[in-house]
Amino acid sequence: MAREPNCIFCRIVAGEIPSDKLYEDSETLAFMDINPVHDGHCLVIPKAHYPTVFEVTPDAFAAAACTAAKVAAAVQTALKPDGLNLIQSNGPGAAQSVPHLHFHVLPRRMRDGLLINWGLKPGDRARIAEIAGRIRAAL
Ligand code: AMP
Ligand code: ZN
Repeated sequence: MAREPNCIFCRIVAGEIPSDKLYEDSETLAFMDINPVHDGHCLVIPKAHYPTVFEVTPDAFAAAACTAAKVAAAVQTALKPDGLNLIQSNGPGAAQSVPHLHFHVLPRRMRDGLLINWGLKPGDRARIAEIAGRIRAAL
């Protein structure tokens, strides 16, 4: 499986960096975003390292998309947001800050005014862990 030693998401896959894991299978991993826009904001990645949609294999992309749909359903059940975006960004011009392909599972609130290129603001780790438990219970 392709791995990039300095990639933060590869290091999460390897267990070298802690994360609030929600779900994993042989191909994919879902975990909480540490800078959540809203409660329940989480990420889904292929375990193998592909920087963007331009390098990823169709099978790895499909596996990540399937996991994103599964996790989105759990977020919807656990948190009942007003809506939910799946966002997958490619390259700095698209505000991709971590070059390991990922889907944002991003719950939305009515009139939250969110722009696609939101800024990163650290979340409360204890609250993120508590929300992760609620999503896991809905998986
Ligand atoms: P993007 O800016 O679209 O590439 O999204 C990358 C996301 O990864 C951002 O929302 C960050 O908050 C998130 N992120 C970065 N480092 C970590 C980490 N160690 N654990 C969880 N999420 C992270
Ligand atoms: Zn990586």
